[in-house]
Amino acid sequence: MSIVRRISFAVAAALVALPGSALASSNPTGGATAPEEPEVVAAVCEDATAWECARGAELTLSGDSLDEVEAVRFIGRRGARDDRVARPRQAEDHAVSVVVPHDARSGRIAVVSDAGRAVTERRLRVKPGIAARATPLAIAAGEGVFPIAGRHRYGDGLGAGRGHQGQDVFAKCGTPLVALLDATVQHRAFQSSAGNYVVLQTADGASYAYMHLRSPAPVRRGDKLRAGDPVGKVGDTGRASGCHLHFEQWTAPGWYEGGKAVDPLPLLRRLDR
Ligand SMILES: [Zn+2]
Repeated sequence: MSIVRRISFAVAAALVALPGSALASSNPTGGATAPEEPEVVAAVCEDATAWECARGAELTLSGDSLDEVEAVRFIGRRGARDDRVARPRQAEDHAVSVVVPHDARSGRIAVVSDAGRAVTERRLRVKPGIAARATPLAIAAGEGVFPIAGRHRYGDGLGAGRGHQGQDVFAKCGTPLVALLDATVQHRAFQSSAGNYVVLQTADGASYAYMHLRSPAPVRRGDKLRAGDPVGKVGDTGRASGCHLHFEQWTAPGWYEGGKAVDPLPLLRRLDR
């Protein structure tokens, strides 16, 4: 489970003010208690929208006695024909998360556990599906631009040598670099090993770092860029042997802000066409 999902789960769970019974259901004496019927008071999608979620997106239901939930039923319209059942991805006392089935329809939701079944009073609006995720991050197929606008060849990858957190891609000094996706400039600085670098952050919280730029990036922190916008030129500033782009891909919430570096090679290969 990615960090994005874990965070959205925690946030969604925290969004609900817990009723008094929530506290009573914890069992400080340690004795056996009869399982309680589940109760759902809120539904929050991974994009933080309440009672509205796309097919394929993760939905977190909050409430009470949800840790034993075995199935979440998307009831859809009247009758069982369009009902779709999802198994929980994660279940805790006050929150259970599921992926909205690809053919689920708008309607109420039922949670089912050994202790009983609860149907929400509100309807969930099910929106059309989100694109399949080919990387740990939400980048749709066909989206994005290769970060180097010119001839290039791949060098060391993630984990090559101690602490190498990205992929090196060699290109002629001065080859233009471009934003791979619509993004905001998160950082632009110089550092002794990274040299001139720029970090872009996409709306989903993921970050992409470009290092060893020939000169300081022609952008400012907070600038909003479109995919393909210039972000600098390939260089060898900092600790670099030969002009190359050192490229890092970080999961949300981003570069040195709680995200983690993932192997960017699959993404680069996909954009490299
Ligand atoms: Zn490198």
